[in-house]
Amino acid sequence: MAERIALVAHDKKKDDLIKFAQNHESILKKYELIATGTTGRKLNENTNLEVIRMASGPLGGDQQIGAQITDNLLKAVIFLRDPLTAQPHEPDVSALLRVCDVHNVPLATNLATADMILESLKNE
Ligand code: PGA
Repeated sequence: MAERIALVAHDKKKDDLIKFAQNHESILKKYELIATGTTGRKLNENTNLEVIRMASGPLGGDQQIGAQITDNLLKAVIFLRDPLTAQPHEPDVSALLRVCDVHNVPLATNLATADMILESLKNE
């Protein structure tokens, strides 16, 4: 089974994530990709990647991804957060970040770190 990477972006960061995914399509293609609902739909519409969609973040998608981290299914999480806008599901967002730290799963919350994580995956 291919290793899995999760992609999530808050609304104001979704365009950035799409551009990021387009720029890194060749490396992302090597992984099974999952995303929260709206992020996944936009990635499927705007890239050549095939992304498995969870529920939308505010409806529990962050928690579904968190459960997969607990089950050791994820290689890395790219979660482009919008720190300037209050999120109605902030507790779930925090829980997802926390569970990455609990299980020592690489987590990028901005583009600079996301680039670094993918760069390091190229060397594997
Ligand atoms: P969305 O969820 O991709 O369904 O918008 C992302 C989030 O806000 O956690």
